[in-house]
Amino acid sequence: MSDARPGTGSDSVDPARASWAEQARLERREAWGMANTTVSRVLRPRSAEDVVAAFAYAREHGLKVIAWGNGRSYGDAAMNDGELVLDMGLMDGIEAWDRETGIVTVQPGVTIAKLWRRILPDGYWPAVVSGTSYTTFGGCAAANVHGKNNWKHGPIGEHITGFTLVTPDGAIREVTRESDPNLFHAAIGGFGALGIFTSITMKTKKVYSGRLDVLPAATADLEAMFRFFERYNGEEWDYVVGWIDAFARGSALGRGNAHAARYLGHDVDPEGQRMMDVQSQELPNHIFGYPKKYLWVGMKFWAHRWGMRFINWARYTWSTLERNQHRHLQPHAQFNFLLDFVPDWKFMYKPNGLIQIQLFVPKQHARRVIRQALELQQAMKYESWLIVMKRHRKDPFWLSHAVDGYSFAMDFPV
Ligand SMILES: Cc1cc2nc3c(=O)[nH]c(=O)nc-3n(C[C@H](O)[C@H](O)[C@H](O)COP(=O)(O)OP(=O)(O)OC[C@H]3O[C@@H](n4cnc5c(N)ncnc54)[C@H](O)[C@@H]3O)c2cc1C
Repeated sequence: MSDARPGTGSDSVDPARASWAEQARLERREAWGMANTTVSRVLRPRSAEDVVAAFAYAREHGLKVIAWGNGRSYGDAAMNDGELVLDMGLMDGIEAWDRETGIVTVQPGVTIAKLWRRILPDGYWPAVVSGTSYTTFGGCAAANVHGKNNWKHGPIGEHITGFTLVTPDGAIREVTRESDPNLFHAAIGGFGALGIFTSITMKTKKVYSGRLDVLPAATADLEAMFRFFERYNGEEWDYVVGWIDAFARGSALGRGNAHAARYLGHDVDPEGQRMMDVQSQELPNHIFGYPKKYLWVGMKFWAHRWGMRFINWARYTWSTLERNQHRHLQPHAQFNFLLDFVPDWKFMYKPNGLIQIQLFVPKQHARRVIRQALELQQAMKYESWLIVMKRHRKDPFWLSHAVDGYSFAMDFPV
């Protein structure tokens, strides 16, 4: 949270913008996990100068400031009860796109969904994406998000080359890794505490197909899961991700299924060019003949401990069927954003919502800690309904969650 209280900044604000800032209105905001709500004053800036005016307004009224990207943080990272929220949603323009170099400059409210739709037809994919495409690049830079390729390609910050940051003193700073390495490595991953991003420039990844080469596997226990990660996190593969059934006990503890995936080389996929079409990336609107926008209603029926035990068992069993273990080609969006294809799936956690706890564990301790985490939740009869495991590496950012090891993200109903 940026501290813009009196005495911290300059006061030279254009009068028209100053009166715009005076229009801040009270709004109720709910965290994505639906477990907390706040009431804050909200402003929707359209430019860096508006953000400067918002900081001046905050100083004048003794308010703290926080940015709201698209509120896709599970918890309260973008919330600021009783204070000032800058909703960055109106700053959603792609400012520059160079299809020769793959370098793009975006306003902070541009979502991953908007960017991939723009650049994939030109043969590029965002270098790092979160598990949902509805995050904004402001939010992604502030949280320095990682993807299923973190162990190989690092967090999003490693692909950012520069940004514009409005600091609480009202300065508009152009920052690159070279021009100000300290601010660069502190603001990325800094959760907006040092200022508000108003523009971000980054490199994207050249791809030769709209699809990835995907290798699925059923993993019979935790050891099999680790062995899968160890086998496929080398040079040849780009993504590795595991899903774990938290309810399996005894010799099946930690069972699940895992996927490795990699980009395809030039001319490998005869359909590669056609699959770069936006349409080819999407899943159909109906799943098993059922409109997917109402799937969460059906899921609600299973939203209790015994229901989730069954769903996790069914998912594991499905993954062991021979026909589901074949290597196949899958569109980038379907591989990366599977959860997005079930709209509002989080509603099955209503009325109290969900929290996510993500452990990051150095690799030498990962087997022991993850086993303990599973045994503990089973002993408490409070198993996670969804567990996702990823491999990570260290990075140079100051406020970093990364380790040379594994993460273990667990969704719990509140
Ligand atoms: C289904 C799902 C899957 C996810 N998968 C992953 C994943 O695989 N990897 C991962 O790393 N994360 C993942 N996340 C978390 C998500 O990527 C981050 O919480 C991300 O920061 C949310 O982006 P947002 O734009 O919605 O930001 P918000 O949630 O609105 O804000 C997040 C933080 O960024 C700050 N912020 C927002 N905009 C700006 C700005 N312009 N300038 C400065 N600070 C700003 C906010 O103040 C806040 O501190 C997932 C979340 C969901 C819901």
